[in-house]
Amino acid sequence: MTKKRVALFGSTGSIGTQSLDVIRRFPEKFELVAITAHSSLELLVEQFHEFEPQFLALSNPSSHSELKNQLGPQHQKRITDLSFEELIEETRPDIVINALVGAAGLGVTRSALECGLRLGLANKESLIMAGELVMDLAQTPGAELIPIDSEHSAIFQCLLGEKKEEVSKIWLTASGGPFFGKTRNELLSITPAQALKHPTWSMGAKISIDSSTLMNKGLEVIEAHFLFDASYDQIVAVIHPQSVIHSLVEYVDGTFKAHLGVTDMRIPIQYALSYPKRFASPVKDLDLRQLSNLEFASPDLETFGCLALAYEAGRAGGTAAAIMNAANEVAVAAFLSERLPYLGIEETIDAALDSVEGGAQDSFDAVLDADARSRRFSENFITSR
Ligand code: NAD
Ligand code: MG
Repeated sequence: MTKKRVALFGSTGSIGTQSLDVIRRFPEKFELVAITAHSSLELLVEQFHEFEPQFLALSNPSSHSELKNQLGPQHQKRITDLSFEELIEETRPDIVINALVGAAGLGVTRSALECGLRLGLANKESLIMAGELVMDLAQTPGAELIPIDSEHSAIFQCLLGEKKEEVSKIWLTASGGPFFGKTRNELLSITPAQALKHPTWSMGAKISIDSSTLMNKGLEVIEAHFLFDASYDQIVAVIHPQSVIHSLVEYVDGTFKAHLGVTDMRIPIQYALSYPKRFASPVKDLDLRQLSNLEFASPDLETFGCLALAYEAGRAGGTAAAIMNAANEVAVAAFLSERLPYLGIEETIDAALDSVEGGAQDSFDAVLDADARSRRFSENFITSR
């Protein structure tokens, strides 16, 4: 069997390092051709020496000379100045994993699909921003879009062999985050350290905050809408604190298909690499007999308004979700640097959706323009509030 050539964007992050864990276990199946990071220079260099990819890139130019020093003279040619898009064109890997965080991931999603490659997509923001355009590109001959987000990997698998017309609902499970059950008053004084502590998953900072506000579930509702061509009325977010069921699909005959498993992102990452096959599990077995109650509840949309805002933006269509996504990124960064109180995140997104003009999603330029206008608006809103 020839090895699959993999390019990993965002190799130093939570999804990136777990992707390397999977690749490390199957040296006979996968070969890493490129890795990229934004800032974690030491870790990138360590990864380079272990996997010896053809190329590595550091997207933050201020550390470039340091990277050259650390790598030694024999490896200089492997440090690339190519953009992510050029790197994909140049290396033509079999599989691209997009483990970047935020809008910075849009170019990778776009060019992997344009080049007709398999895209293992963790970077949900690119799909939220430009879902219509991205799903069009997913029709490119050879292109395959395999979700890595655990809920969407679960739904993708529950849908295998089924007909779209026979789906009645998609049940998207949510842990509820660290503040499940809290009142709005109790959320007033939440600090970054409190919000970064997720009950069931260990993840990067941005998605941890998104999980606490339920914006992550909001982004995932929009992600499911595009990936599975489901209407917003068909997608139901349900709180399931144990996170054992990763999501469900309900069919017109009353059948539910659920996907269960250990809460470990290496399972969906590995599936995006192995699909349509399955390889041996990277984690310990789940013993159903050890499980206590599995609970389900409705999300509290009054307290966690971000989820309601995401449904609103999703239903509005066009560039509204790109506007929402950009406002959320700006607000989360401001909260993490203590320039914005916790509930200010929701306030900023709400204001951006009200004030930044949306339009049709007719080109990537239109999406990037909406993203830029929303960022400018949100920065001003935060400094002047
Ligand atoms: P992270 O912050 O841990 O890692 C992000 C990676 O992207 C790092 O390698 C970083 O160096 C790089 N990066 C950051 N900013 C960049 C920029 N401006 N330009 C280029 N590279 C940049 O994030 P993560 O938790 O691994 O999440 C990655 C994506 O996967 C997000 O879209 C997130 O929503 C999604 N996701 C994550 C998890 C999880 O368990 N962590 C689960 C589901 C989905
Ligand atoms: Mg998820």
